Amino acid sequence: MVVDASPVKETIEPGQFFNIKCGESYFPLLRRPFSIYKINDTTLEFMYLVKGAGTKYLTRLETGDKVNLFGPLGKPFSLEQSYQTILLVARGVGIATLAALAQKAAQDGIRAVAILSARTTNDLLAAQELQEFGAEVYKVTEEEGTSDVANVRKMVNQIMIEHPIDAVFTCGSKRLSILLQDMIKENHIPGQIALEEHMGCAMGVCYACVCDVKEEDAVHSVKVCKDGPVFPLEKVVLK
Ligand SMILES: Cc1cc2nc3c(=O)[nH]c(=O)nc-3n(C[C@H](O)[C@H](O)[C@H](O)COP(=O)(O)OP(=O)(O)OC[C@H]3O[C@@H](n4cnc5c(N)ncnc54)[C@H](O)[C@@H]3O)c2cc1C
Repeated sequence: MVVDASPVKETIEPGQFFNIKCGESYFPLLRRPFSIYKINDTTLEFMYLVKGAGTKYLTRLETGDKVNLFGPLGKPFSLEQSYQTILLVARGVGIATLAALAQKAAQDGIRAVAILSARTTNDLLAAQELQEFGAEVYKVTEEEGTSDVANVRKMVNQIMIEHPIDAVFTCGSKRLSILLQDMIKENHIPGQIALEEHMGCAMGVCYACVCDVKEEDAVHSVKVCKDGPVFPLEKVVLK
């Protein structure tokens, strides 16, 4: 979904999201959160998977219709200027938030290598867009029997031999995020994860999107909408 973003005056960063009203009346009552997929001069793009009432409503919008966006919300990814190569690992529609990061990396002269995972080759999203941003893209699917954790570990190891990776970014898969937690620890590099918990208000009031992070051996709860959705990968409690 491409929207005219000229009324949005705030700076919009990859990793942030908008809470979108998905209906004309009170149903569905709650807005739905969607990551920013592409940030253009005057437009913003969202990529969404049709799941229920809210996303079905979005499919019925036509060119020229108005959409009610609330945002930008949340903490963005942090892309250090010292990074030369970053690794992006996305499962399914999790690529929506990482594509904007690949776009920014390209603008900042940072090379991106991406592993996209999906059930079938048809479900592999945004590969072409990532390649247009100059990213080197690897694809894994259940259909081809390549998406299991052991194979992705092998691929990440190989990528790390070919290019020194300065940081890892992920979204969309718990099992791949757990794998990457191990791998960033083994390789002493930082990682960031964008979480997609179910949200209520998206303003830090309702506590619907709480998750656990571990800091100095103490586990405490954080709100994905306000403290995230991007968190240091090593801190998020996934197991
Ligand atoms: C910060 C953030 C960014 C997101 N970005 C994107 C994006 O870029 N593209 C995209 O397609 N989706 C994204 N999502 C998920 C998206 O918000 C949900 O898919 C959407 O709210 C579903 O609304 P619905 O009314 O169509 O479906 P509903 O009727 O609300 O739900 C349909 C099904 O989806 C499940 N579901 C609902 N909300 C979520 C959720 N937040 N996470 C996981 N499953 C959910 C429900 O359990 C149900 O099984 C994001 C979520 C968050 C929190």
